Amino acid sequence: MTSSAKELLRNLPAIGEVLERADVVRLRASHTHEAVAAAVRVVVARWREQVRSGEFCAEQLDEALGKAGELVGVELLRSLQPRLRRVINATGVLLQTNLGRAPLSARAVAHMAEVANGYCNLEYDLERGERSRRDVLVEDLLLDVLDVRRAANSNEEVQAAAVVNNCAAATFLALNTLAEGGEVVVSRGELVEIGGGFRVPEILAKSGAMLREVGTTNKTRVADYAAVIGPQTRMILRVHRSNFEIRGFTEQPSLEELVALGKRVAVPVFEDQGTGCLVDLETFGLHGESSLRRSVRSGASLVAASGDKLLGGPQCGLLVGSEQAIAKLRSNPLFRALRVDKLTYAALEATLMAYRVGDEDEIPVLGMLRTPAEAIRRRCERWADELRNDAVRATVVETRCVIGGGTTPGASVASFAVSLRVAGLSEAGLAARLRGLELPVVARVNEGQVLLDLRTVAPADDDVVLAMLRTEFVR
Ligand SMILES: *Cc1c(COP(=O)(O)O)cnc(C)c1O
Repeated sequence: MTSSAKELLRNLPAIGEVLERADVVRLRASHTHEAVAAAVRVVVARWREQVRSGEFCAEQLDEALGKAGELVGVELLRSLQPRLRRVINATGVLLQTNLGRAPLSARAVAHMAEVANGYCNLEYDLERGERSRRDVLVEDLLLDVLDVRRAANSNEEVQAAAVVNNCAAATFLALNTLAEGGEVVVSRGELVEIGGGFRVPEILAKSGAMLREVGTTNKTRVADYAAVIGPQTRMILRVHRSNFEIRGFTEQPSLEELVALGKRVAVPVFEDQGTGCLVDLETFGLHGESSLRRSVRSGASLVAASGDKLLGGPQCGLLVGSEQAIAKLRSNPLFRALRVDKLTYAALEATLMAYRVGDEDEIPVLGMLRTPAEAIRRRCERWADELRNDAVRATVVETRCVIGGGTTPGASVASFAVSLRVAGLSEAGLAARLRGLELPVVARVNEGQVLLDLRTVAPADDDVVLAMLRTEFVR
């Protein structure tokens, strides 16, 4: 630091001094003293930093002091902004866990608003006028959508369903309820970490069950499972490899084969299916993805899935399985601790209803997935045309979108993006400016390019985002 900077630092006004300034005192008319003082502290700390880094000389500091009221006012407004904000996802990753995974359908949002805007029958039976349970609210609808239970005349078991906070909670509850104190048999190829902090061996240990590993990382056979099953075995666990692939010499029994083994030795089979996918992804050119329907129909005792991945609903964990298994889960005291609120039920019910009536495209994730690449290219052309000028270079480039959120590893769909360059800004600088917009835009930075992939941007947002970008960059 130069000696003049040190001198300036010594002369920085004290917090109390700034608070006494007439233009700052005026802010007290509409804000509490504490809020104003907090904003002043932030502003003075910023000045100190600017002096230290050499950004501010005496003149600039004087100038800043002259408009202290304005700066503190801006800081006050900023401090009142919600921290959780809507953003535009231009990354092309459909299920971005960092960006809140699945956006909800208009129907789901409307149903949440309706239920939130007063009282509701969360645990109240309107017919009988007495107390009921929340966990039965969406059970029939979910089973209908999965097309199970109605098979009353077959020898299939009667199915039931319950909802908890997320798939991690569902898996934990299943392990704790069905396997505490006993052994759970898992393939070494499925001892995985899915997303931050969800590690199968750790969650298993916390549930009070003991891990019995079988097979190898790449190959596990039915015989490997059969060899270790004994009186101590409580469960055969299958974990869907939702965020990675093993290629080459690999072998893994199908879920159906595990179910057959489980029946033979009278041990329940539980699958952590994860993705909650209810549509045929082959039609999007995505191969080999596991389907929740197929898992449930396999005859497994219990299947767990996420609500906010490919199902396209709110964060929750769906548990579907035999009536007996679900009844045990419900009687575990942990079930109460893992329950979801009325808003989750509202969003889930509306999302499932879209499947029920065949309006799957109204679920944003599925609608985005289904959009033809050509339609995205046309929107990109329009964006590029409206943004391009002397200082802005905007071109349309081909991209690939991944689904993300721990689903369909290695698979991608064709898409298009606007590649943006602004004179005087590095890629990182441009990406930061985009994130700093009033409605933040999260772009993909790839091989030195800032890409706005429009597959994950709702067409309804085009106009507002374009207007914002034009104001910011096109002058
Ligand atoms: C995503 C996933 C989980 C975790 O789901 P959350 O709903 O995020 O808790 C667990 N298991 C599998 C197989 C998954 O894909």
